Amino acid sequence: MTTLPASLSLLVYFISGAIVGSFLNVCILRLPGHQSIVKPRSKCCHCSKPIPWFYNIPILTWFWLKGKTACCRKRLPIRYPLVESVTGLLAIVVGVYVRTAPIAIFTLACLLLVAFFTDIDTMLIPDEITLGGIVAGCLFCFFYPELQRAQTPLMGMLRSLQNTCLAMGGLFGFASFAEFFLKKEAMGLGDVKLLGCIGAFCGWQTCCFSIFLGATFGTCFFIIAALVQRFKGKRTHLMHKMIPFGPFITVAALCDILMEPHFSEKYVSFILLEKMM
Ligand SMILES: [Zn+2]
Repeated sequence: MTTLPASLSLLVYFISGAIVGSFLNVCILRLPGHQSIVKPRSKCCHCSKPIPWFYNIPILTWFWLKGKTACCRKRLPIRYPLVESVTGLLAIVVGVYVRTAPIAIFTLACLLLVAFFTDIDTMLIPDEITLGGIVAGCLFCFFYPELQRAQTPLMGMLRSLQNTCLAMGGLFGFASFAEFFLKKEAMGLGDVKLLGCIGAFCGWQTCCFSIFLGATFGTCFFIIAALVQRFKGKRTHLMHKMIPFGPFITVAALCDILMEPHFSEKYVSFILLEKMM
């Protein structure tokens, strides 16, 4: 009897998350093209017919229609139920494990998820996500100063701003430095703003950690992809392909913000004296 409420609450977390995920799908599709995320209503990605509400049920619709659109029976991308399921799972993880400002952490996780897919699709991370995220981060830190290890609302907000500037300034300097030596763009401005957003929510420690772990993920990806290509006998030059860095940063940041205490706190205090901050 005691396990029923727990499993029910997990179901509530998952369903709520999946509904949010459905909205994130709209953001992923529309924000890069500067379209409104409110109007018009959801429409078919092939024939542009409006989708009635009963064909707009997160996850279930895709399986119900066997991965095809109801209007023109064309392929419905598996990404839709995937984003909805991942958001549902994120809601469970945040709801069960995160104790410090879970609503703020879930918001950041959603922003990171949108950034992940838009960067893969278009090599761009919309300003609505990054700059909007910085504003949201500062506001959340006013209401939950503990996010920035601060005692008062005002201090939380000021630290959020300070960490945004630190993250963006530091990274912009690093990117310019790398660009000078590599003679090509080392990091997009979208990545700089994305790290500013992470800094606004969780501080510079999570930013440092995300860059470090993101670069590690990126290196592993390159090695595995190169090995697979060699194994298949393909001669595509992976190094000459533009691969966005944003998705690696977002996955790394998610690994950190969903842990409590944040992994970055141990990592940063190991290599730097946190007492300095
Ligand atoms: Zn259609």
